[in-house]
Amino acid sequence: MVNDQKIVVRFPPSPTGLLHMGNARTLLFNYLFAKQNKGQIVFRLEDTDKERSKEEYSQDIIDNLKWLGIEPDSFVAIRQSERGAIYKKYLEKMISEDKAYFSKERVVEKGQRDQVIRFKNPNKKIVFNDLIRGDIEFDTTELKDFVIAKSLEEPIYHLAVVVDDYEMGVSHIIRGDDGISNTPRQSLIQEAIGAPRPIYAHLPLILAQDKTKLSKRKHGEKVSVTFYRNAGYLPEAVINFLALIGWNPGDEREIFSKEELVKEFSMDKVQKGGGIFNVERLDWYNGQYIRKIETEKLAKMLLEHLPEDWKKKAIENYPYWLKIVDLEKNRITKLSDIKEGIGYFFNEPEYAKEMLLWKKEPNIEKTKKHLQEVVKLVSALSENEFNQEKIKETVWNYADKEGKGNVLWPMRVALTGMDKSPDPFIVAGVLGKNKTIQRLNNAISKI
Ligand code: GLU
Repeated sequence: MVNDQKIVVRFPPSPTGLLHMGNARTLLFNYLFAKQNKGQIVFRLEDTDKERSKEEYSQDIIDNLKWLGIEPDSFVAIRQSERGAIYKKYLEKMISEDKAYFSKERVVEKGQRDQVIRFKNPNKKIVFNDLIRGDIEFDTTELKDFVIAKSLEEPIYHLAVVVDDYEMGVSHIIRGDDGISNTPRQSLIQEAIGAPRPIYAHLPLILAQDKTKLSKRKHGEKVSVTFYRNAGYLPEAVINFLALIGWNPGDEREIFSKEELVKEFSMDKVQKGGGIFNVERLDWYNGQYIRKIETEKLAKMLLEHLPEDWKKKAIENYPYWLKIVDLEKNRITKLSDIKEGIGYFFNEPEYAKEMLLWKKEPNIEKTKKHLQEVVKLVSALSENEFNQEKIKETVWNYADKEGKGNVLWPMRVALTGMDKSPDPFIVAGVLGKNKTIQRLNNAISKI
C-alpha cells in the first residue's frame, strides 16, 4: 500500500479504434500497480466523441482485455455518454460560483455565434509530482480561460475526466506521457470543484523501430492487440513483451508471468525515455511460450489456424496431427506459422522429377536404384517400429556407402516435394510406414 490510502486506478479507453498495443501497455501497468497494492480498477469508456466512438470498438477493448487477462474489477463500464446530467451539475455549480462562465463566441453554421462555457483561469503556477518524472511545473497563464464545455449538455473531455476521476475516487492516474500537457488544465478543474489531486505517473510512449510514435496512421493494423491475437500470439507473450517496454526488473531476467510481474513491478524502475516496440522481441517471447505448451494442448490451439481441409484431416487422424505438432512446435514463432511448410503432411507432394536428383550427382538411373533400395530397407520395419531412430538405423549404412546426398536427398524430396524440410527420417517417422512407402514408389514411377 502507498500510505494508508485506498488505491484506485482507472482503465479509461476511448472506443474510437481497436485496442492499441500502447494503450494495452498502459492498462497493464495500471493493472500491475493496482493488484500489487490490493487496489481497485474502475473501467470507464470515454465515449464522448459520438462520431468516432463505436460499439464494435468497445467490444474489441473488452474482448482483448479478457484475452490478455488484464481485467478491471467489473466489465460493466461507466460510459461518459450516459453521464451528461452529472457533468451538467458540476458545470452549473462552477458557473454559480463564478469559476466558469458562458462566453458568446463559438461560430456555428450560417455565421451565427453560439455560446461556450469557459473556465475562469486563476492564472497560477501548478506543480505536480509525477512518480516517473518527478516534479513538473506549469504556468497556467498561457492556457487562458479555456473551454470546458460547448454547452451544459456537452462537456469537453477535460471536465468529464476530472469529474469522473473524482467521483470514482481515483487515487492514481497512470497514463501515457502524452497526457502530461492535459494535467495543468485538469488540475485547475480539480481545484475548482474541490477534488483532491490524484497521484500521477506518466508512462513513456511506445516508439516504433524508427523512433517515431507508434501510431495507427503510420503503422496500420500492426498497432492493435487484435492483429496479434489473430496472428496467433499468446497472451502470456504479449503481456511479458509489453511489460518490458519501458520497465525492467533491474537485472537480466526476461521471462515473467503476469503473477510475477504483479510482484516485481515497480514504478521507480519505469524509464523516462520512450520504449521501442520491437516485433522480433515479441516473436522471441512468443516462441518461448509456445514451446512451454504441452503438445496435446497446443495441437488443439493450432487446429484453428489450419485451412479447413487440413483441419478436417487432422481431426480425422489425431495421432498423426499430434506427431506433426510435436515436430513443428520448435519451429513456429506464432500459431499462424503452422500453415507454412507442412502442406506435404496433408497432401501428396507435387514436384518436377528433376528435383529428385542430387545436384552433385544428378544421375537418373542411380537415383531410381537408391529409392528402390530405400523402399526395400524401410519395408522391413514393422508399423510399430516405424520411427525416426529405427528408420535412420535402417537406411544409414546404405546412405553412407552410396553417398548421403545421393540417397537422402531424393528420399526427402520424395516425401516432402520441398527443397527444405526436416530430415527424411523425421518426416518418414511422422508420415508412417504406408505413406512413406507410397510416396517413395510414386517418386520411382516418376523417373
Ligand atoms: N481516454 C483517454 C485515452 O484513451 C485516456 C486519457 C487519460 O488516461 O486521462 O487515451
